[in-house]
Amino acid sequence: MSSKYETVIGLEVHTELKTNSKIFCGCTTEFGGSQNTHVCPVCLGLPGAMPVLNKKVVEYAIKVGLALNCEILQFNKFDRKNYYYPDLPKNYQTSQYDLPICLNGYLDIEVEGETKRIGITRIHMEEDAGKLVHSGSTISDSNSSNVDYNRTGVPLLEIVSEPDLRSGAEAKAYVEKLRSILQYLDVSDGRMEEGSLRCDANVSVRLRGTEKFGTRTETKNVNSLTGIQKAIEYEALRQAQVLEDGGTVYQETRTWDDAQGITLAMRKKDAEDDYRYFPEPDLVPIVISEEEIDEARKNLPELPDAKIARFISDYGLSVTDSTILTASRKTADYLDATVKAGADAKTVSNWMLGDLSKMINENGLTFAESKVSPENLAGMISLIEKGTISGKIAKKVIISMWESGKDAETIVKEEGLVQITDTGAIEEIVKQVIANNPQPVADFKGGNGKAIGFLVGQVMKESKGRANPGMVNELLQKFLND
Ligand SMILES: [Zn+2]
Repeated sequence: MSSKYETVIGLEVHTELKTNSKIFCGCTTEFGGSQNTHVCPVCLGLPGAMPVLNKKVVEYAIKVGLALNCEILQFNKFDRKNYYYPDLPKNYQTSQYDLPICLNGYLDIEVEGETKRIGITRIHMEEDAGKLVHSGSTISDSNSSNVDYNRTGVPLLEIVSEPDLRSGAEAKAYVEKLRSILQYLDVSDGRMEEGSLRCDANVSVRLRGTEKFGTRTETKNVNSLTGIQKAIEYEALRQAQVLEDGGTVYQETRTWDDAQGITLAMRKKDAEDDYRYFPEPDLVPIVISEEEIDEARKNLPELPDAKIARFISDYGLSVTDSTILTASRKTADYLDATVKAGADAKTVSNWMLGDLSKMINENGLTFAESKVSPENLAGMISLIEKGTISGKIAKKVIISMWESGKDAETIVKEEGLVQITDTGAIEEIVKQVIANNPQPVADFKGGNGKAIGFLVGQVMKESKGRANPGMVNELLQKFLND
């Protein structure tokens, strides 16, 4: 069935902006808090309260628009989107309609080693709604629900893609990349589980090779990256099944049930919702100067794609490693800082992707919170390069560095881990091991070359891992072949 039908997906991503105060009032945007404590007459929509636009929101929207290659509309405005729901006290949402702040951008994603360009239709600014708190686990099994308006008026950007995505995997890659860019720009924390990044998926299927779009459904309530992929895959399969059975796909809003792994119908739409948009009379249109846009462009940080290109060209890293190391700005910054402290980039990348990643993940930290600082990692790498410690000892040193916060040189001194490169000292141990292990020695001399591995192991053990392995090998060969 999957080869007969093609899936067409467009995504609407809502991201909360990390401003200190709400979009039209001075209330805090902080997540959580006791119910209805982050509120005032403006965000409660009380009659006569007048909104004042938070300039930071416009600044952040311009940044996001530029990073997503959009045209910034120098004249844009707010509109009222009229609908009734208890979490929206004004009975309209202040949003943008025909003149949004950004239009016509794109985002390049990588799926299975191929780059694909996904069009961005528009980005607009709007206010978030409040939250219903049900007495039961869902609205349908609750006797009552309370409304918490703390989230009402938190600034949102809605980023709408073209229907260019063709699979759940592409949609997941798109949201992942988008989230990474928002985090690089430092405009949103992108936490899907806290709802600061939310995704609605418009999904339809059509016979492969046909042009006309099928009827689409909108799936809401997807709150994880894997959820996006699974919800789309399920929904596409469901629609294909309906068509195969001779049925009709209805235009409707559906919800993703993560526990059951299925989408469920919420409400049917006979036509597009009529929100009776009209210009917001309480706010003046937004006028953005050429200078403001230039200034914002100049101040954009290096974005993931540029960083990947630099890691490949300047550091000689592979595409895969560069992609992993740039997914988060903090991780990429750690690599840059360690290289700046004098270490070789390829070696740093190996430690970051290996032992250090393991410790960071086990402790639920990010590279910015690593207990081994970039300077200390660079210091340890320099000890390996100078031959002071072996790579094997370094694996112990890095754990001690993590636990104590001390630098590698101090740890090596304190714990007596300096590599033994003194021929005389190693010779002593080699002779002793040969004397104590007559059987393996005889095996080796009898032609079993593998027996030397055991003897090398014994020497390393005797030296507590400190003997230079190359010298051990060389000296063993010398004495055994005498
Ligand atoms: Zn307020």
